[in-house]
Amino acid sequence: MHLLKTPKINLASFTKKARLQRPAMLRFIKKLEQNTPKQLKKWATEAEQHTWQQIDCTSCANCCKKMTPTFTPTEIKNIAAHVGMTAAEFTEKWLYQHKGDTDWVNKTQPCQFLDSSTNLCTIYEVRPKDCAQFPHLHHAKPADYLHIHKQNIQYCPASFTFIEELQKIIASTDK
Ligand code: SF4
Ligand code: SF4
Repeated sequence: MHLLKTPKINLASFTKKARLQRPAMLRFIKKLEQNTPKQLKKWATEAEQHTWQQIDCTSCANCCKKMTPTFTPTEIKNIAAHVGMTAAEFTEKWLYQHKGDTDWVNKTQPCQFLDSSTNLCTIYEVRPKDCAQFPHLHHAKPADYLHIHKQNIQYCPASFTFIEELQKIIASTDK
C-alpha cells in the first residue's frame, strides 16, 4: 500500500470507468505480451511514478475488500503469533484451500485484518508478501507481471492507472 497525499478514489465511478475501458486495455496488454518492447522497464518505471502521484490507497483498500492474498506457511505462523493464536487456530478460523490447491486464502472478504474505518491494515508489519508487493507495479521484469495486471485492472485503481500511463507513454513515443 502507498500512503501519499493524493485525490480520494471514488470506487463507484472507478468501477464504471474500468468496465468500459477494460476490453481496450486487455488488447493493449496482450500486444505488449506478444511483442514486448525493449524499453518496457524504463516506461514501467515512469508509469509507476505517475501512478503514485494520482492514487491514494487509503481512500480505496479495494484489494483488501474484494481480493484475497495467499498466505505461506511461514506467514501463517508469523501472523498467528502476532495476533496471539496458534497457526492451527488461525488457519481454522480465517483460511481455506480451494479443492486440489495448496494455497491458503481468506475465507471471507473484506479481509479480517482491514480496519474499515481507516482503510489501514491492522497487521501491516507482518502482512503477507502478496499484500506487500501488490499491485506489482515495481518489478525488475515488468513483462512477467502483465498477466497480473490483466486480472487486476477491474479492481485496482493503481493497476488501471499504471496501464493507462503506459498507454500514454507508448502513444507519445509513436508520434
Ligand atoms: S486496490 Fe489498488 S489502489 Fe486500491 S488500495 Fe489496493 S493497491 Fe491501492
Ligand atoms: S492482510 Fe492487510 S494488506 Fe493484506 S488483504 Fe488483509 S488487510 Fe489488506
